[in-house]
Amino acid sequence: TFLHKVRNQIIGINTKVPLINGKRIKYINFDNAASTPSFKRVAYKVKEFLYWYSNVHRGTGFKSQISTKIYDEVHDLVANFFGVDTKNNTIIFVKNTTEAINKLSNSLNLSPKDIIITTPMEHHSNLLPWRDKSKVIYINLDQDGRLDLDDLEEKLKEYKDQIKLVAISGASNVTGYINPIHKIAKLVHNYDSKILVDAAQLAPHRPIDVKDDTSSEHIDYLVFSAHKLYAPFGTGVLIAPKSTFAGNKPDYTGGGTVKAVTLDDVIWAGLPDKEEAGTPNIVGALALGESIQLLNKLEWEKIIQNEDYLSNYTLKQLRKIDEVILYGTMKSDTTTNQVGVIPFNIKGIENTLVASILANEFGIGVRNGCFCAHPYIHHLFGLSDQEIEKVKGDISKGIYTHKYGLIRISFGCYNTLAEVDRLIYAVKDIIARKKAGIDLTTNYEFDN
Ligand code: PMP
Repeated sequence: TFLHKVRNQIIGINTKVPLINGKRIKYINFDNAASTPSFKRVAYKVKEFLYWYSNVHRGTGFKSQISTKIYDEVHDLVANFFGVDTKNNTIIFVKNTTEAINKLSNSLNLSPKDIIITTPMEHHSNLLPWRDKSKVIYINLDQDGRLDLDDLEEKLKEYKDQIKLVAISGASNVTGYINPIHKIAKLVHNYDSKILVDAAQLAPHRPIDVKDDTSSEHIDYLVFSAHKLYAPFGTGVLIAPKSTFAGNKPDYTGGGTVKAVTLDDVIWAGLPDKEEAGTPNIVGALALGESIQLLNKLEWEKIIQNEDYLSNYTLKQLRKIDEVILYGTMKSDTTTNQVGVIPFNIKGIENTLVASILANEFGIGVRNGCFCAHPYIHHLFGLSDQEIEKVKGDISKGIYTHKYGLIRISFGCYNTLAEVDRLIYAVKDIIARKKAGIDLTTNYEFDN
């Protein structure tokens, strides 16, 4: 079957981890939105490459030629993966999504009168790099935390001449909602602006086609991280029109960024070299190249089908449990277009405690807290304007006392129904113990 085939290709999914009672149990990773495990073949390729290891570009040795060829080819693989026309666009390798967005914000020559439109559902990495340099305005969300596209259109109309960019996530790392990126692109282009899609969460779950440059639905800028795409840490990508960097000094200068240097002058190299200062992460690039080729071979329909099935099943089970609090559209049966990310809480039990019990007593890895999306969490909690003002006031004074947090389950292409069953069992067990008056905190200490 599909799952059998996939699971055979992923590293570490049969690893046993120690529990608090001394037993060992097969680890369940429901934290794929943070990072996914690698494909076995990625590890094999990396190991193989280390024997042929040499720096790129500047060497003429046989090994350097191989490194250079591989490194350049992965740029092309990425371009193909997202349907990027490399005549007008460049593929720049950086460290991660965060660096890619920062690079873009540094390259747009923003001034305080420029406006960036973004959303309160963004990861902090697509919020903070836009502040300080320019004015940021936010698209309204509905009560369930989905984007209000009418509001976007109104804002596009109102601020038309000042808008430099609309920066939006392809999918949320908290609710998994998929934003209609091509529909948004069309709107944005109608008002002569450009769109950035933060695809960190979308890329692992859906095929993305940035579409032809001449299409009104074209995605101008796209960023993502390899470590959420079944390759290891250390590689991120910024896809951008070459014109973005024309006439600019690179944000980092130094080796690799130049054609010629005198003690006074410099001629910058072409793209992407100019924007990839210093020795790049060649191993990371190779790994990413391998993982995207494997993802393509797995067939997206099957990946999506499995993840949808797991999400629907999990939601159905969680909805049956009175003590479970679900958020946004996940509360009801409405089918939302979303990737396999489910946020929840258990009534009356701290999210940190639930996550710790899941890890240490059931071998299930989840994530809890605010997921680098504090404003979105406040929205999902349905804080009143007054409460939000209180949080804002406190934080502006450097006081951090609010404790809103969630538990997040996020699926990868290899997760199974049996794994979800263990989670549901664990959730019910935690609730039952609490009801029986058992102190759940005995084994855990938190400094709150
Ligand atoms: N954007 C989104 C939507 C994310 O989920 C993440 C990672 N949690 C990031 C940006 C940042 O990615 P990275 O940590 O790889 O820079």
